[in-house]
Amino acid sequence: MVNRDTFLPYGQQWLEEDDIQAVIDVLRSDYITTGPAVKQFEEDVASYVDAEYAVAFSNGTAALHAACFAADIYEGDEVITSPMTFVASSNCVLYQGGTPVFADINPQTYNIDPIEVRKKITKDTKAIIPVDFTGQPIDIETIRTIAEDYNLIIIEDAAHAIGATYKNEKVGSLSDMTMFSFHPVKHVTTGEGGVITTDNPTYYKKLLHFRSHGITRDKNDLENNSQGDWYYEMQELGYNYRMTDIQAALGSSQLKKLDAFIGRRREIVKQYKEAFEGVEGLQTPYQAENSHSSWHLYVLRFNQEIVSLSRKEIFEQLKKRNIGVNVHYIPVHLQPYYQQLGWEKGMFPVAEQLYEEIITLPLFPKMSDEDVKDVINAVFDVLGLEMRDGR
Ligand SMILES: *Cc1c(COP(=O)(O)O)cnc(C)c1O
Repeated sequence: MVNRDTFLPYGQQWLEEDDIQAVIDVLRSDYITTGPAVKQFEEDVASYVDAEYAVAFSNGTAALHAACFAADIYEGDEVITSPMTFVASSNCVLYQGGTPVFADINPQTYNIDPIEVRKKITKDTKAIIPVDFTGQPIDIETIRTIAEDYNLIIIEDAAHAIGATYKNEKVGSLSDMTMFSFHPVKHVTTGEGGVITTDNPTYYKKLLHFRSHGITRDKNDLENNSQGDWYYEMQELGYNYRMTDIQAALGSSQLKKLDAFIGRRREIVKQYKEAFEGVEGLQTPYQAENSHSSWHLYVLRFNQEIVSLSRKEIFEQLKKRNIGVNVHYIPVHLQPYYQQLGWEKGMFPVAEQLYEEIITLPLFPKMSDEDVKDVINAVFDVLGLEMRDGR
């Protein structure tokens, strides 16, 4: 049996001395929250993705919640999203009292299928939350056409897709609002953290208010502006969803390395592709010609009619060989909470079939070529296949 001495996780942050120093500098400064580092990080993200505004939040889920607030989603409003995602993509609609509506995925791209989206639209549909699954950009032009036809707001869940491009434009500048997550398994990290980017000044203002209790101090927005400098008004029900300067400084430092990180991810993906493409029973991930994935996850599909082992067996055998595999995702509508709300198995057959057949292989920039070889060797070993020449 091929075996590594140490456990290789499926994803991991890469922090260096300069990142640590950036955090220490903030700790020694006057502001550790609501200070200049947050503003700087917002400017850095906005300029990286070519968006007008960026608003930082305590995490990506809070950012999605705020985007639903800014989009005026309330009880009675329906929001269409993918079942093949993390639970946060639809939970944010529930937080606002809205109704999530799932539309099945495309069997090739694994992203939400625009044809299925159209079928789900009703008079109550208010927004779409498409997900750039694994970093592969959604077909935004088609989604935008649908949104224009029915006057829908697009909130792109780009937790996987910072640095991805669609027709040479950066994800983050293509939808009404775009969410990025800075959890340690994502491309760059703030520990916990999230951002919404937008070009819309109305959304921008609402996002700012929502992040801080629904409070405003802006004299132009006060209902009573005869008061003194101490005065503020809570005009809406918001939350404390603020990011600290400690997190933001880490984010700005990490962001400088994003392009290099993505470059390394692409190299690793190339090695996986060379090893696995064309192997009977294996399906390597799709890459659209007009876009570039940021390769957050490498999802390998095992055709259960051809491969003699079950997904569970392959998963356990890889774990035994110290390869930290994972599964992204259990379709959201199959979660017990969503089942209680009325969703059932069988409703989204493409996502459900995909779920049965996928394993996420380790992919993060700090992986060495040796690590990559270990993964490839382990997969071939488990499947009982001979390595091809030179691999
Ligand atoms: C990570 C992730 C989120 C949530 O981000 P957090 O920062 O962990 O709250 C939302 N959607 C998707 C698809 C994610 O992968």
